[in-house]
Amino acid sequence: MGASGRKAIVVVGSIAFDSIETPHGRQADILGGSAVYFSAAASLAAPVRLVGVVGEDFPKSRLAFLARRGVDLGGLVVEKGRTFRWKGRYEGAMNEAKTLDVALNVFGTFRPCLPGSFRDSGYVFLANGSPVLQREVLRQVRAPKLIIADTMNLWIEHHRPALRALLREVDGLVLNDGEARMLAGTANLVAAGRRVQKMGPRVVVVKKGEHGCLLFHGRAVGALPSFPTERVVDPTGAGDSFAGGMMGHLARTGDLSFAGFRKALVAATVTASFTVEGFGLSRLARLTRADIARRAGDFRRAVGGW
Ligand code: AMP
Repeated sequence: MGASGRKAIVVVGSIAFDSIETPHGRQADILGGSAVYFSAAASLAAPVRLVGVVGEDFPKSRLAFLARRGVDLGGLVVEKGRTFRWKGRYEGAMNEAKTLDVALNVFGTFRPCLPGSFRDSGYVFLANGSPVLQREVLRQVRAPKLIIADTMNLWIEHHRPALRALLREVDGLVLNDGEARMLAGTANLVAAGRRVQKMGPRVVVVKKGEHGCLLFHGRAVGALPSFPTERVVDPTGAGDSFAGGMMGHLARTGDLSFAGFRKALVAATVTASFTVEGFGLSRLARLTRADIARRAGDFRRAVGGW
């Protein structure tokens, strides 16, 4: 088992063409997907191995920017048919996407198969996707240090038994406030976080959009505001790049303690604050580690030291 493999993150999730409307404009068929946003963010801090599927309509050159960041695309497969498509709209404060249309296409029948060289990955991120597919990935990795999953209302509402089975097998879950309330069946977010922990994951991160996030880590609880900004153009990918920023930091430092997660959540918050500044991947794709370090300093000055 190579030393680099233990620091590497394997991510499995969607690769998409997104059509997005926000109060600031609209764009059709732009590159997106949970695995793409995650990889773009996490690869700034740690080696990333991407597993996903696209259709014959997908020009592989669209992922060249990820390869330039060192993302290993050896787990990308092309299948007969069309690439996953998602259409969403954000209104008002843009805290939540309204899904207007979703076509799973080749992603709907995708059976992930990890290349042999990916199986020693120390970190596993199960980006938003069917819990059945997410569980299949877990059977293909050898003793990872940390497994974190993302989920969404679609799976909570319609695939709950599979999701509950997945939760028994992961170390952590990231989800937004509405999803936490729905999964736990309670309105109080702290109670909801605790209930989700009882379902399996010892770490639960509840994202509250512009209001920051809550961290449940064993018996400890932490709260972090979001980065105060007016520049919100398109929130698509905020959640996935938040997870990428967090997981990249965890993989780089190897510190999985409460303090380690708190620091990782600063990286997560700052990364997501850049993502929302442009449509789709436009801002995230040209983000650097220096940008993150600079804004992490601004963030600490804005929210710390009271
Ligand atoms: P977020 O980071 O939560 O804003 O996620 C945005 C990405 O999630 C978009 O690029 C979509 O392509 C992708 N997405 C939307 N619905 C699904 C779904 N049901 N399964 C997997 N990915 C999805």
